[in-house]
Amino acid sequence: MSIWDTVPGHAEVVAQLQGAARQPVHAYLLVGPPGAGARAAATAFAAALVCEHGGCGECRDCVRVLADSHPDVLRWEPEGAAISVEQVRDEIVPMAFGSPVESARRVVILGDLHRADRQAPMLLKTIEEPPATTVFVILADIVIPELVTIASRCVRLDVPPLPVDVVADLLQREGVDATKARDVATASLGDLDRAHVLLADPALGQRREAWWMVPQRLDGTGATVAAVVDELRSRIEAAAEPLKEVQTAELAELERWVKENGERGSGRRDLVAKHRRQARRHRAEELRFGLATLSARYRDALHDGTGPGAGDVIRAVASIDAASEALTRNPSETLLLHALMLGLPAV
Ligand SMILES: [Zn+2]
Repeated sequence: MSIWDTVPGHAEVVAQLQGAARQPVHAYLLVGPPGAGARAAATAFAAALVCEHGGCGECRDCVRVLADSHPDVLRWEPEGAAISVEQVRDEIVPMAFGSPVESARRVVILGDLHRADRQAPMLLKTIEEPPATTVFVILADIVIPELVTIASRCVRLDVPPLPVDVVADLLQREGVDATKARDVATASLGDLDRAHVLLADPALGQRREAWWMVPQRLDGTGATVAAVVDELRSRIEAAAEPLKEVQTAELAELERWVKENGERGSGRRDLVAKHRRQARRHRAEELRFGLATLSARYRDALHDGTGPGAGDVIRAVASIDAASEALTRNPSETLLLHALMLGLPAV
């Protein structure tokens, strides 16, 4: 067992981080779409930085990093759509400038940096100035133009989605049968966590079918687009039920704790923030999956000659890709889907 076992399928990224852990510099930037594995890689790297054995996966340090309770591994994730001046000044800066408590280093993991467009200069200063004992591990879905300078001060590693074959293989090793492993891997968009959620999700096939059928339903009218978008959104809503159940149970557990111990130290704020983040990520992943299905439908139509002409298909696929990319900026979901579907050709 080693801490790197928690980052399956990313041999290249793991090799680079193992090397980096032996002689770390002040900042690393892990770039990859949500769920591709950048978070797991950041956690394993943080453990390797504070573990005396370079990330054994078994000592008290490693175990606490995995449980998110190590005093020298601090995590910060934005709650709202953007990162504010106050958040940088009052939350990130104090994290960065504190000294390690138990280990030789303090690791600060910053999530979702692509939402820090306006605070980038202030963050740049923070990342460049802290004590030599601080190592930043920064996560971003993409490098937006405002972040190019920050990125240039970090060692950058790309964490791409896992290939479908790799996800299918990992699932099969867990005992999932080959056909199901393949279906789920395709719908997982290279995200192993999402693959595990989908394994327990009987409505996955229906959601895939609903997106696949969209081009057949389009007739160029706004009324049809509105009806299609409404239906897709309520399917996405329903798909969030299992996640909501887990969250409700976690909240009930917290209420029990508060009843006995009081509100102080309950971690309510963190839990609520985590739930919001999970819900947002879930929706974004469902939309990305739907858009990928839609894109596959058009490419399929091009092959079997049932669809619009090649030029129309290329334009359709490009606008679907652009919509998928725009999701990282937290747009209005309804407006985004309406605008996209009004411009798509029928099949
Ligand atoms: Zn260890």
